[in-house]
Amino acid sequence: MLVSATEMLKKAKAGHYAVGQFNINNLEWTKAVLQTAQELNSPVILGVSEGAGKYMTGFKTVAAMVKAMDESLGITVPVALHLDHGTYEGAKACIEAGFSSIMFDGSHFPLEENIAKSKEIIEICHSKGISVECEVGTIGGEEDGVIGAGEVADPEECKMIADLGVDMLAAGIGNIHGVYPANWAGLNFEALDAIQQKTGEMPLVLHGGTGIPDDMIKKAVTLGVSKINVNTECQLVFAEATRKYIEAGKDLQGKGFDPRKLLAPGTEAIKAKVKEKMELFGSVGKA
Ligand SMILES: [Zn+2]
Repeated sequence: MLVSATEMLKKAKAGHYAVGQFNINNLEWTKAVLQTAQELNSPVILGVSEGAGKYMTGFKTVAAMVKAMDESLGITVPVALHLDHGTYEGAKACIEAGFSSIMFDGSHFPLEENIAKSKEIIEICHSKGISVECEVGTIGGEEDGVIGAGEVADPEECKMIADLGVDMLAAGIGNIHGVYPANWAGLNFEALDAIQQKTGEMPLVLHGGTGIPDDMIKKAVTLGVSKINVNTECQLVFAEATRKYIEAGKDLQGKGFDPRKLLAPGTEAIKAKVKEKMELFGSVGKA
C-alpha cells in the first residue's frame, strides 16, 4: 500500500538517516527500486518528474502501475509515490491520479506567489492524507528544461515556507541537478546549518544527489537532511550496463535481442546503485 512520506521522514529525521527518492522512468526502474527496498527492509520514495509522467503516458498510468506492482510483488516496506518538481497544474493532476506525495516547486515564482500557491496545494493534499514538499531557492542545473542558478536559500524564507505546514522542505545549498561540473564548490554546510536552526524538526530535502561525495552526504544528514533525491546516477549505470551488453554482441547471440534479456543488465545495475545509496543514507532496516 502506498503511504505519504510524512511518517517515514519524521522517523528519518529523528533517527539521523535519510530516505532515498529514486526517480522512475518505466516498469524496469520501478521494479528495481521496489525490489531493492524490500530486500533491504528500507522505506523508499519513488519520484516521478512531469516529463517521466508524460513519457509513461500520464500520471494515472504511473499510479496504477506502481500500486499494482507494490501489491503483486508483495511489498511490505513503506512506499511513497511522489511528484518531483511539480507545477501547480501537475500537482493537481497527481492528487487526482492517486499519488501519495507531491512536490510543488514554486521556487521560480516571487515569494508571495510561491506562498499563496503552496498554501493551496498543502490544504488540498492534507485533506487527502498526501504529504507535500515545497522548494525555496532554485536548485541549479537542469530539470526537465527548468534551469536554476544554483542559489543558496535564505533561511528566513525557508522558515516562512516551513511554517505553512509543509511536510518536507527542499532548500538550495549549492547542490545542482545532473552531473556536477569539475569546478563545483561543494555543499554549503553553513547555509544548511542556518536553515536547520530556523526550521527545527522539518525534514530537509537534498536534490541533485548524483556526484555529491559520500562524506558530504553523511555530513548533510547530520545537519537535518532526511530525504535525498537520486535520478541521474541510476540513468548513468543503466546506460553503461546496457551499452556493455550490446558492445559485447550479446543481443546477437541466441535470443539476446529479447527485451527481457536486453534490459536485464541495466535493471540489475539500478538495483546495485539503489542498494549502495540506501546503505550510504542509513535507511537499511528502517522500514
Ligand atoms: Zn530536484
